[in-house]
Amino acid sequence: MRRILVAGNWKLNGSKASIQKLVAGIVAGAENLTDVSIAVCAPYVYLPFTAELLTKSVVGLGAQDVSEQDSGAYTGEVSASMLLETGCKYVIVGHSERRALFGEKDMDTARKFAAARKQGLIPILCLGESLAEREAGMTEAVVARQLDAVLELEGVPALNDAVIAYEPVWAIGTGKTATPEQAQAVHAFIRQRLAALDVGVAAKVQILYGGSVKGSNAAELFAMQDIDGGLIGGASLDAQEFLTICQAGQNQRD
Ligand code: PEP
Repeated sequence: MRRILVAGNWKLNGSKASIQKLVAGIVAGAENLTDVSIAVCAPYVYLPFTAELLTKSVVGLGAQDVSEQDSGAYTGEVSASMLLETGCKYVIVGHSERRALFGEKDMDTARKFAAARKQGLIPILCLGESLAEREAGMTEAVVARQLDAVLELEGVPALNDAVIAYEPVWAIGTGKTATPEQAQAVHAFIRQRLAALDVGVAAKVQILYGGSVKGSNAAELFAMQDIDGGLIGGASLDAQEFLTICQAGQNQRD
C-alpha cells in the first residue's frame, strides 16, 4: 500500500517568528503520526532556519522551486545541490504559479525535475488544468502533455524517485476543492498513463491532490483509491489545520 504524504507549500509567506511557532506546533503534533509522511516547503531564505527547527523531527524539508542549472552565471537561481546541502529532501517543480506567473514551460519543468533527481532530491511534480481548460474538456490532454514532457526527458523509471501532485488550477487558493470523484478520475488517468509504460512504477508512485485541501475535506479526498495525500497551500500555514490534514492521512492507513 502506498504511504500517504502530506506536504505543506508555504509559498511567499512567513517570518522567522511565524515559522518558529508554526514548526514547533507541527513537530509536536507529528510525533504520534507514524503512518503518514509529512513535509514542509519553505521559502529559499528560510530553508536553513527551518532545517534547524526540524532537526530530530520526522517532518521532511522541501523547497518550492529549483534551477535547472547546476552552477554558473544564473543570477538569482538556486541549484539542487544547494538545496540538498541545506537539508532538503523534496522540491516542488512545475507549480501552476510558476507556470502561470513566471512563464515556466513544460520542458523547463522537466529540466528542473531532472536537476532535482540528479542530486537525489525527490521532485514533487505538479500537474493541473485551468478552469478554461477543464470547461473545454481538455483536462486529460493538459495533464498528459505536462506529464509527457517529464517522461520524454527522463523516462518512466524516473517516477520511482518522485511524487506527482495533481493540482487543478481552479481549485488552488480559491476555496473551491475538486470533489473526491473529480480528483480521483484524474489521478486514475495519470496512473493508467504510467501503467501503459510500466505497471510497477504506476503502482508505486504517490499521486497527491492539491487545491484548497482543509482539515474538513482531507479525509474524503484521501479515502479515494488513487489519492495518496495532499499538497497543501493555505491550510499549511496553521499548525492545527495542517495536523488535522495529516491526521486524516494517518487514519486512512490505520
Ligand atoms: C498549492 O498552492 O499547492 C495549493 C494547493 O494551495 P491551496 O491549498 O491554498 O489551494
